[in-house]
Amino acid sequence: MSLEHPTCPACHGRECQIKDGYTPSGSQRYRCKLCGCRYTPVPKPHGYDDEIRLQALTLFLEGVSLRTISRILAVNHQSVANWVNHFAGNLPEDLPDSVLETAVLDGLITFNPRRK
Ligand SMILES: [Zn+2]
Repeated sequence: MSLEHPTCPACHGRECQIKDGYTPSGSQRYRCKLCGCRYTPVPKPHGYDDEIRLQALTLFLEGVSLRTISRILAVNHQSVANWVNHFAGNLPEDLPDSVLETAVLDGLITFNPRRK
């Protein structure tokens, strides 16, 4: 995955981010010329940041439908589905059944894992 505009994790600067060799695992490292810190950008799925993902999941847990979440957050429908699918693999114990039913209706998950 290419990262055309890495952001400095320390000062959040987007300018003057220069390539600075590679990590032992082969990831591109960068150095921020604004504050001098060195870092390795972490690729983010579909280019959305954690805050948006968290908002999407929060809305989902409130029972908001996938289409509505997509519209509210201006996020690609499929991206929201992917996040929720990932989340559905790690369902909290106290997740209401109604939320699962909504997920099934939306086609996010193909079955309710609690419905035996
Ligand atoms: Zn910086």
